[in-house]
Amino acid sequence: MPSFRDHTPKRRNITRAVTTHRDHKPDLKIDFISKCGYCNASDTWKITYYEVDHFIPEAILTIKTNTDYSNLVYSCRSCNNAKRKKWATDDENVPNRNDQGFIDPCDDDYLNHFIRKDTGEIQFNTKLGEWMYYALKLYKPQHQVIWNLEQLEPVITEIKALAEDEKVKPEIKEWIIQTYDKYTDYINQWRSL
Ligand SMILES: [Zn+2]
Repeated sequence: MPSFRDHTPKRRNITRAVTTHRDHKPDLKIDFISKCGYCNASDTWKITYYEVDHFIPEAILTIKTNTDYSNLVYSCRSCNNAKRKKWATDDENVPNRNDQGFIDPCDDDYLNHFIRKDTGEIQFNTKLGEWMYYALKLYKPQHQVIWNLEQLEPVITEIKALAEDEKVKPEIKEWIIQTYDKYTDYINQWRSL
């Protein structure tokens, strides 16, 4: 079974003053390796839809400021919209209790609560994972589709390389290259929408 994600994002200790939390987006993009902290989807598919989420929702922050880098998550719009003001405890320092609530995506433990099915769907692995799965709407089909597109990309590049083999008939080689070019053209158009 494929891993839900192969890397735990780590925030650097960034303390510079900013005007709004969104000013931290370029640094978050680096620290989260261009992936949503919650669903792990790469931003190359919809870069404009990536946002800056407050792990502890702004509405309940009392100790940290709303521009505190240590509380920010690089998030796709789907996860950010699903999460909104959800917080399962009455304490901003307690992100989860009794299998309800969140785990910071920068915590190595986040991985243990989810699995990735062979078909690309995200599935929960624990009770707390189940809570986060529904809170973040990780059942949405886009998570499966994006993951599968990412798996296809190296395969298609490999098929194109195989077409260079001298044993491949010229008309097949031509067909593979045309298909590859059409595929990459659509992918690039999609990414720039
Ligand atoms: Zn997401």
